Amino acid sequence: LEPLDVEAIREEFPILEREFDGQQVVYLDNAATTQTPDAVVDAMSDYYRESNANVHRGIHHLSQEASIAYEEAHDRVAEFIGAAGREEVIFTKNTTESENLVAYSWGLHELEPGDDVILTEMEHHASLVTWQQLAKRTGANVEYIRVDDTGRLDMDHARELISDDTAMVSAVHVSNTLGTVNPVSELTDLAHEHGALSFIDGAQAVPNRPVDVAEIDADFYAFSGHKMAGPTGIGVLYGKQALLEDLEPYLYGGGMIRKVTFEDSSWGELPWKFEPGTPPIAEAVGLHAAIDWLEDLGMERVQAHEEELAAYAYDQLEAEGDVEIYGPEGGPDRGGLVSFNLEGVHAHDLTSILNDHTVAVRAGDHCTQPLHDKLGVPASTRASFYVYNTRDEVDTLIAALDDARQLFA
Ligand code: PMP
Repeated sequence: LEPLDVEAIREEFPILEREFDGQQVVYLDNAATTQTPDAVVDAMSDYYRESNANVHRGIHHLSQEASIAYEEAHDRVAEFIGAAGREEVIFTKNTTESENLVAYSWGLHELEPGDDVILTEMEHHASLVTWQQLAKRTGANVEYIRVDDTGRLDMDHARELISDDTAMVSAVHVSNTLGTVNPVSELTDLAHEHGALSFIDGAQAVPNRPVDVAEIDADFYAFSGHKMAGPTGIGVLYGKQALLEDLEPYLYGGGMIRKVTFEDSSWGELPWKFEPGTPPIAEAVGLHAAIDWLEDLGMERVQAHEEELAAYAYDQLEAEGDVEIYGPEGGPDRGGLVSFNLEGVHAHDLTSILNDHTVAVRAGDHCTQPLHDKLGVPASTRASFYVYNTRDEVDTLIAALDDARQLFA
């Protein structure tokens, strides 16, 4: 694989030239949100300048144009993730809303007392809190597949937990804290063997690696536009068509119906049945452009770049000797991020020192509080990489650790 031309890529991100106190920003907070290339900003700006109108196939030219652009964005996403077609691609606000859509549309109707919902100990709150609260409302139990000492899922425990009582297995594809790449096909197969469904949280996977939902055979799969060079305000829920046909909508309103009387309503075609109200049209155009842009780079090359940087960061941090790193060592089991703690320094203090060097990283529990409880730390510092990051930037982070040691340790 030919490596990415990072220098050329960086030219498409003017924000990376920003300076604070005379130092150029080193943006390593990509697991929270990625930066947006000119191609995406231009696509959205062209849409607003030239084609803006409401969708749902109004009679006039602009509405026709906006509707086509909006519908084609669904087709593009379907093609990108290996879905059968636009019927299987629902636009939401983000991964969180995609989780909630399935919890309410499917879980609220299908879960019964005694049913098990199987999660992992490394779930993001988007899935953990959602299923936990749904379980309280329906009387279902939530069980968590253990994370072992290496930061991987204990698959023996998974096989113990997933049983004929299991109704749903919901697992994160790539952990936003540990970086672990989980065996989501295997988890999905286990779910199916017991007549359960699978939901995969791909928020940290789709931006960074080729993902084929058909190959995984997931029943539902979710991700966010803003973590993959696209805009905020748009996320995706993939669902198998036959399942989606049977689900009750979670939000009601205009644009989703077939027929409404004073007494009752019936629902329109997929995916519109799950997209009532005026949808994120410009954002859909932006997501389409982001996918075109990423595929021009090639997702295999994106993955190789991320793995290489994460492995480099892991090795450099480990060589420091006083850094605790969470999750698997660099390699195929780790996505493009590294969370760690510097001995004797609170993650927030470290992150603030790094900010003094204009290194942007994140401190906190990364919406995985129970996992941090298990790790025995209140917080960690997370460096996360994207296509425009370099080894030099990792070196800047490493060099800044000394300041933190001097001030706090
Ligand atoms: N799941 C994972 C694994 C994530 O990393 C995130 C974002 N931190 C989410 C879900 C939630 O994404 P969003 O905030 O876009 O809903």
